[in-house]
Amino acid sequence: MLPEAISLLRRLVATNSINPLFPGIRREDVIGGETACGAMLADHLSRFGFASETVAHDPERKNTVMRKSGTGGGRSLFINGHVDTVAPFRPSEWLDGNPWSATIKDGRLYGLGSTDMKSGLVAAALAASALDAAGVRLKGELQIHAVVGEETMSHELGTSSVLDAGFGGDAAIVVEPTSQPRPLSVTAVSAGNFNLQIDVKGYGTHSGNRGPSIRAGGEGNAAGVNAVEKAMLVVQALQQLEQEWGITKSHPAFPAGIFSMVPGVFHGDAGVPSVGYLAESATVGYLVWYPPNERPAAIRAEIENHVHHASQLDSWLRHNPPVFRWESHWPVFDTSTDHPLIQSLVADRADVLGALPAGLAQTHSFNAVCDASFIAEKGIPVAAMGPGDLRCAHAVNEFVQLTEVSDCARILARTMMRWCGVA
Ligand SMILES: [Zn+2]
Repeated sequence: MLPEAISLLRRLVATNSINPLFPGIRREDVIGGETACGAMLADHLSRFGFASETVAHDPERKNTVMRKSGTGGGRSLFINGHVDTVAPFRPSEWLDGNPWSATIKDGRLYGLGSTDMKSGLVAAALAASALDAAGVRLKGELQIHAVVGEETMSHELGTSSVLDAGFGGDAAIVVEPTSQPRPLSVTAVSAGNFNLQIDVKGYGTHSGNRGPSIRAGGEGNAAGVNAVEKAMLVVQALQQLEQEWGITKSHPAFPAGIFSMVPGVFHGDAGVPSVGYLAESATVGYLVWYPPNERPAAIRAEIENHVHHASQLDSWLRHNPPVFRWESHWPVFDTSTDHPLIQSLVADRADVLGALPAGLAQTHSFNAVCDASFIAEKGIPVAAMGPGDLRCAHAVNEFVQLTEVSDCARILARTMMRWCGVA
């Protein structure tokens, strides 16, 4: 890998660009890191014929768009990558006791954001600069978008705001880490997810009412209703639906049973133990993963209907239905594997890394969510392919294999030429 590309990656990783909206982070401690990363990339690419502009919904969090116009007559392409990172877990356990060390050891560069996903942006910059150095002029325009806010789904500050400002192209590649199941896998699809909170109401009375409230001969609901136990009925109902999903929900790009409802936070107002009362309210939070071939509205309706039907079997829930709060939605992206962009990436990956044995899938699913979804929402064909491994993203000693960065650049350079055309 070119020393100047390694130096660019080290400087990017050494820059703290934690997303200021990340839980537990004070904005004043981290603000400006994202903008600084975009400026570093723009400065680097200015030497290779790229002009840069910024789009800032939040003036202190600038998205940087680097663009080089084509000679005309070709299709345009843009590469998207986010410059924000999560906050580091257990910072003292990182190599050199520092998540921003950018230490290189045994061919790996360590640091927060190395895999997710500053190395992807460097690969794009490396590809663009290599084409320029080789005297290649593209027919179509090439843009590189270094965006903010991805880690908190703030696409309206990042990716979507850049597209709404009029930037974009005929196709896009998001350079998120896709080195699963093998280096630089071409991914064309991701599942969608919802954050869902379900509130269950009880009838909070003294804990001495437990007997009469639940035993034969007692007063039943009139004596008190423990919301925690009613919420457990909701959890059981959704476990049953999740089992059904294992059979009813499938997509060729995903292993069976992956579409799930993961209960996360569960809390009720159990009161002070020495006094004790039956919980007046309880909430259970879910992360729902649904397949790309289903409509989000239908998924919401299916879950609500299932809980509604289960509630009819309970004398309390029948009259006090659980309340659904659909807090956030990350849509899918699902580009046809026959699309020329995907086909180009598959061919160019084979060119650089060797063809995959016949019989193996040539494309894969992206096993998380990313900004490709918000690009797809604008009707733009999009793929995700980039260096790094999601298994070490967001984890202590996140790293990227440097050879993957240069291999990614070689693939991207080929796809840029094939997609945009060479003048
Ligand atoms: Zn990412």
